[in-house]
Amino acid sequence: MTDDTKTGYDVIIVGAGPAGLCAAMYAGRGMLKALTIERGAPGGELLNTDLIEDYIGFESIKGWELAQKMAEHAKKFGAEIVTDTVEQVRKADDGWFDVATARGKTYRAPAVILTAGGTPVKLGVPGEGEYAGKGVSYCAVCDGAFFKGEVLAVVGGGDAAVEEADYLTRYATKVYIVHRRDQLRASKILQERAFANPKIEVIWNKQVVEIKGTARRRRCVHFHRVQAQYGSGRGTPQT
Ligand SMILES: Cc1cc2nc3c(=O)[nH]c(=O)nc-3n(C[C@H](O)[C@H](O)[C@H](O)COP(=O)(O)OP(=O)(O)OC[C@H]3O[C@@H](n4cnc5c(N)ncnc54)[C@H](O)[C@@H]3O)c2cc1C
Repeated sequence: MTDDTKTGYDVIIVGAGPAGLCAAMYAGRGMLKALTIERGAPGGELLNTDLIEDYIGFESIKGWELAQKMAEHAKKFGAEIVTDTVEQVRKADDGWFDVATARGKTYRAPAVILTAGGTPVKLGVPGEGEYAGKGVSYCAVCDGAFFKGEVLAVVGGGDAAVEEADYLTRYATKVYIVHRRDQLRASKILQERAFANPKIEVIWNKQVVEIKGTARRRRCVHFHRVQAQYGSGRGTPQT
């Protein structure tokens, strides 16, 4: 054990998104000594979300504000949150877990809760970051209701894309699925559902190269009009 090894925790929580903060809050209420290790600011993906309207008890709340409330709630019950990146979790011979971080620390506990979440796959095209939360979204269930009566484009051809496109037709007047191949990878049943849906149109063999906004872009979530330009230069559906 080195000088940088910290023991005495009942549980170590990796990640302080909503799941990690919830775990930290319950650990505190359960009188457990818990350490939460977060590589960034507490809140996780909530910090990439502009407005949340589907979290019960909060009719409408900014993502950062909800993140702050969750962190405060967890801290009220004694949550200890350190900023560091977990690089390795290893079970030692004594049955405890060694949690090693980028800052050279090793934390030890008999239990580890992994709440490291996931990161949406980005297209990596110009305009994507600029309009994230202002017309560009990574979660249909979360944000679909913001796009009532709009024309949308979903990029991709796997299960997630096709299922989300189908879901979005309950809000949108039209949903384009923009896919870079000539056939979808989604499971057959999802494909059949999409092809039978009159609001869905697939744009084949096209790759999004840029996302452009209009002058309305400053209107935050009310701004939905983003133009997607395709590799071959044809077609400009709006999301
Ligand atoms: C654009 C967008 C909009 C959304 N809108 C809504 C909405 O309106 N309503 C809704 O209910 N949900 C919404 N969601 C989904 C919601 O944000 C996620 O379901 C939720 O954040 C998942 O929580 P989590 O704690 O599991 O993971 P995350 O929020 O991903 O948190 C994981 C945390 O772990 C940290 N971490 C990861 N690896 C390490 C490591 N090695 N060391 C230390 N820390 C690490 C990350 O930095 C992160 O803070 C949205 C998501 C996105 C992306």
